Amino acid sequence: MTSKHCFHKLLVTLIGFGAPLSLQAAELQGLGYKDTPMIPGTQWHVHDGDRPQPRIVAPAATFSHLAPAPSDAVILFDGKDLSKWELLGGKEPKWKVENGYMEVVGGTGSIQTKGKFADFQLHLEFATPSVVKGNGQGRGNSGVLINGMYEIQVLDSYGNKTYPDGQCGALYSWTPPLVNASKPPGEWQSYEIIFESPRWDESGKLIKKANVTVIHNGLVLHHKREFLGHSPHRENGTYNKKQAPEMFIQLQDHGNPMRFRNIWLRSLGEYDKP
Ligand code: MG
Repeated sequence: MTSKHCFHKLLVTLIGFGAPLSLQAAELQGLGYKDTPMIPGTQWHVHDGDRPQPRIVAPAATFSHLAPAPSDAVILFDGKDLSKWELLGGKEPKWKVENGYMEVVGGTGSIQTKGKFADFQLHLEFATPSVVKGNGQGRGNSGVLINGMYEIQVLDSYGNKTYPDGQCGALYSWTPPLVNASKPPGEWQSYEIIFESPRWDESGKLIKKANVTVIHNGLVLHHKREFLGHSPHRENGTYNKKQAPEMFIQLQDHGNPMRFRNIWLRSLGEYDKP
């Protein structure tokens, strides 16, 4: 999550060298943070800049995008309009739609699906801006946030280092991708995301954490990996709040003119229930 991140950046910009040393040190030096909580089960802080950078793997040049949707898919974006999407609160999104893609108009807000889904296979394609601006988290940032909470990071991670649990394909604030499969700025890339919602029992006890498989440009970044909580910036996420299994899918406005196209989804269904 990033509103706090933006706030910190703004604060640093506004107060410049007058900023407290700890804030400057945390924000301006190195790749990440050491003043954040430990991630349970690891030796790393949240957004730890010393966490190993995932190995870079070049995806196959022949990998084909614009994978046509199968017959049972829900089409979330076919390149023409944002009719399946809304702002938080239900207003119409203001993102640009042209030439078969949608493009973030910075400051108009993150958009989310009107529909809600529990366990699903999601296909989407994205491109980071071909004109490179900024670095680290400020370069080509967006994200796929299930229920606005569980973020699979979208970032320009081509020759752009950042803290590994925030690079492209990371389960934000938890787990870096197994490899860095990013393509150069401006090139179309693909995500296949297979997600299972968390579940609570009737008494409100968590009985299943969310898990996700992510394939980026044909390479597996995570295989049925659990989110240990939601994805806040600089904090450990939690499962403190019981939610319905059906969740919206949000694409993040982080201020960068990111592009998305060809978005479709299939519910996973169940064995022996045709
Ligand atoms: Mg993001």
